[in-house]
Amino acid sequence: MSKIEVPYKIYLEEQEIPTSWYNVRADMKNKPAPLIHPGTLQPLKFEDMQPIFCDELIRQELDNETAYIPIPEEVLNFYKMYRPSPLVHAVFLEQALGTPAHIFYKFEGNNTSGSHKLNSAIAQAYYAKKQGLVGVTTETGAGQWGTALSMACSYFGLDCKVYMVKVSYEQKPFRREVMRTYGANVTPSPSMDTEIGRKINAEHPGTTGSLGCAISEAVEVATTTPGYRYELGSVLNQVLLHQSIIGLETKAACDKYGIKPDIIIGCAGGGSNLGGLISPFMGEKLRGEADYQIIAIEPASCPSFTRGKYAYDFCDTGRVCPMAKMYTLGHDFIPSANHAGGLRYHGMSPVLSQLYADGYIEARSVEQTSVFEAAEQFARVEGILPAPESSHAIRAAIDEALKCKETGEEKTIIFGLTGTGYFDLKAYEQYNDGTMTDYIPTDADLEKGFASIPQLGL
Ligand SMILES: *Cc1c(COP(=O)(O)O)cnc(C)c1O
Repeated sequence: MSKIEVPYKIYLEEQEIPTSWYNVRADMKNKPAPLIHPGTLQPLKFEDMQPIFCDELIRQELDNETAYIPIPEEVLNFYKMYRPSPLVHAVFLEQALGTPAHIFYKFEGNNTSGSHKLNSAIAQAYYAKKQGLVGVTTETGAGQWGTALSMACSYFGLDCKVYMVKVSYEQKPFRREVMRTYGANVTPSPSMDTEIGRKINAEHPGTTGSLGCAISEAVEVATTTPGYRYELGSVLNQVLLHQSIIGLETKAACDKYGIKPDIIIGCAGGGSNLGGLISPFMGEKLRGEADYQIIAIEPASCPSFTRGKYAYDFCDTGRVCPMAKMYTLGHDFIPSANHAGGLRYHGMSPVLSQLYADGYIEARSVEQTSVFEAAEQFARVEGILPAPESSHAIRAAIDEALKCKETGEEKTIIFGLTGTGYFDLKAYEQYNDGTMTDYIPTDADLEKGFASIPQLGL
């Protein structure tokens, strides 16, 4: 690949934005395990999910066969506000590292919500609107998903009720105010509005909440309020489907300039950005048309892939959601208190879990100080202030590029830069002050989480 022929930033033309999502499940021989009902242990059927999710999204969740699903025109129109997103040739990073490797990143932080989550939020809001619903509910921790869904709901005139983990509500007023500016109703969780919230407040007075608890509240409100459904920003098959727009654009840009990646890297929280970025490449790999090294990067403090168990587990701490078969640390697992880099979910997308079990994906874990070191190095030469989550992928891309420097190999590396870090400056402050620490859970620490995984033998 010649460096001269490839522009610094590859923007597709507007008319080159893909018009269908790609469903990688269609090309998987071993399909991801279905969600099951915690009571009956039977796979969830359409009717079982109807009280919680929008009808069309349930169809997408259950569809393991249709390879291409057209993107509705209304969603495509919204995508045009901030897509196509650029595939950037990281020439300044290459120079700084002195590597013969070619490094590219797909930047998804170029919208007000600051991350890739808007790609699915707008689709989910659209299907809710199309079904004639009044509004949707969700939870948010750090706030990226809540912000994305607020933006999407305001576009379609839907009510948006966000249950925000109390400690974030109090400590991250800026995200909260962005959501309110887009018209969302933001409630600190646990609240006194729901049965589960009142129960948790009574049992744990003064609690600052948890994501699991916020999910429970959002689901309760969705299922008990006429005209509302619940929406989730990662993990689910439907979310990976919507996020395939990232990979399809990346593939189109690569094809246009003759770029052939050897290595594709993404950070993995619930798996949606990685699943989206790799989808068309994985399709080629599954069909035997091409091969790529695909690497998932997770925090050493929340190592679902690298140290988790592949088993059915609850998707939430409150156990109100269905169970999914996935790599999990147990739904009671909570990362250590010094963990600052996001990606704190205990489980992993069932699609990626199956692909990992079948050997199509590798996984690595990285420690947070080395993640912030990579973030700083990247910011100083490429200009963008990366989200801590995204910086896990930067760490691995730099490591791979440095390996190429040793071997002289001219590998092409693509990584997903999922978002910006403007709301993560507390974590950057710790790094800059030198007070950030690393903690790798011991096997004994992990055993506590594993003990919460139901013993179903499935
Ligand atoms: C939510 C988020 C992630 C992790 O979620 P996935 O579902 O694993 O993609 C990564 N980066 C950013 C910026 C996020 O907001």
